[in-house]
Amino acid sequence: MIRIHSDFTGGNIRILQQNGKDYVLQNDLRTTVEDWFYWAFCVEGAAGETLRFELRDNRIGHYGPAVSHDLRAWTWLGGYTGDGSFTYTFADGEDKVYFAHSMLYHPDRFAEFAAARGLACGELCKSRKGRSVPCLTAGEGGTRILLTARHHACESTGSFVLEGLLDSLLAEPIPDTQLFAVPFVDYDGVVDGDQGKGRWPYDHNRDYAPEKESIYPECAAIRKAAEAGCHYAFDFHAPCHKNGGNDVAFIIHMNPDKEERILRFGQLLEANLQPGSFPYRQKNDYPAEYGWNHGAAQFTNYMTRRPENEMAFTLETCYFGDPSHPVTEEGLLALGRSWAAALRRYITEQREGRIPQPEKRQVTLREVDAANFDACRDLRRVGKRFVGQPEAVLAEGYMYRENSRVYGIYNGDRVIGMVIARVEPKEGKPYAFTDLFISDPYLNRGFGTAAVEALLELFRALGKRDRVEIQVHETNSAAIHVYEKTGFEKNGRAEWNKTFIVMEAKL
Ligand SMILES: [Zn+2]
Repeated sequence: MIRIHSDFTGGNIRILQQNGKDYVLQNDLRTTVEDWFYWAFCVEGAAGETLRFELRDNRIGHYGPAVSHDLRAWTWLGGYTGDGSFTYTFADGEDKVYFAHSMLYHPDRFAEFAAARGLACGELCKSRKGRSVPCLTAGEGGTRILLTARHHACESTGSFVLEGLLDSLLAEPIPDTQLFAVPFVDYDGVVDGDQGKGRWPYDHNRDYAPEKESIYPECAAIRKAAEAGCHYAFDFHAPCHKNGGNDVAFIIHMNPDKEERILRFGQLLEANLQPGSFPYRQKNDYPAEYGWNHGAAQFTNYMTRRPENEMAFTLETCYFGDPSHPVTEEGLLALGRSWAAALRRYITEQREGRIPQPEKRQVTLREVDAANFDACRDLRRVGKRFVGQPEAVLAEGYMYRENSRVYGIYNGDRVIGMVIARVEPKEGKPYAFTDLFISDPYLNRGFGTAAVEALLELFRALGKRDRVEIQVHETNSAAIHVYEKTGFEKNGRAEWNKTFIVMEAKL
């Protein structure tokens, strides 16, 4: 009698249909309100049979399902053709096989890992379902390192990286540091096999809004634990399924004020990759204040704003990798050990005062004239989205010279961007500005926001009008975010092109 079920730690499946040896299956989203992709099931009693399982292509990775006989050791089935299904021939005596979206990490494995090093997991708190949520404390010292994984229950690749990192830090502790690890933040989700990501009303990694109390007991307990110090905080995740930038490991930059530190850590990680490590390339990192990455209520955003925090960020480790670097347990563990090597170096440099301090921002505007024309023209810009090259901005400013001026945006004495400002608006027209850009080396570090604040200051000082109106393309979410942060509100669509949003600020 063949039995297909999800009665095990991490199990998640629904059987929609069975036609002979063909099964149509679907993952169970449970409280997740987005379309997500996690599933895991067990087949028992199929020895000697060949069965076909149909899901959907956006539920299966590059190498087909992950396969295990004990929920510990996982391999890829391979041979995936991209049609959303896979076929498995069960050998004689092969009575129990687990299949999953990706390689699962069993909570017992973590407990055994700790026990093998003479450590016992403590209890962080009780979960909503009354389970004891494990945490691990090790070492003593003035520098506290907070490590978390599984804020999103299904993101098991992060757990292997965390194990490798802890393995290395426990074997050879960094002097004067204390480790505090929560390996399964959404513990109920990990045990029950939930997606975890995008839970209603929000998931565990959106439960750190500073102005609100956490709704999940785990997040509340982690906040409390951080009060004893969180000099370093790292959170291990996995990104979205596959393709589109999701097949690599990358750091999510958080808090532009600490950009130099995150850049240094990334350099150290890339330079200290251990033999066999799943690769990390700094060029794949995701910038702060870019695309979807506007720090809100995440764990790392909360920790990075604590006064003692040196840095806090997330590592996203793909589920499958790419054909030249498929994900393996050993590769992920080695990436964790590489992380430990990088952290060891970083903390040494930090204690010796060799980490560059955050650049002090002092943003001012200076009109473009003969003295700074060359410097403005030579500003480096590779991307041409939304705003043209520096020459084009200078030419456009000349065209509108009747009521506008071109300004260089300065940080201290260095020009880092440009903007055209309508400082002498015609009768009945508000102040306005256009073509604001920050040159490539200064992007995503808060300079855009500071430049807009300087513009508002300039208009206020001129004192002729009481409002500023700008137009921004509806897809330019980074700019819209900056404008909203500096007091602009959306006010309809542009007459000449409905894809532009009109935004207005009162002075
Ligand atoms: Zn995540």
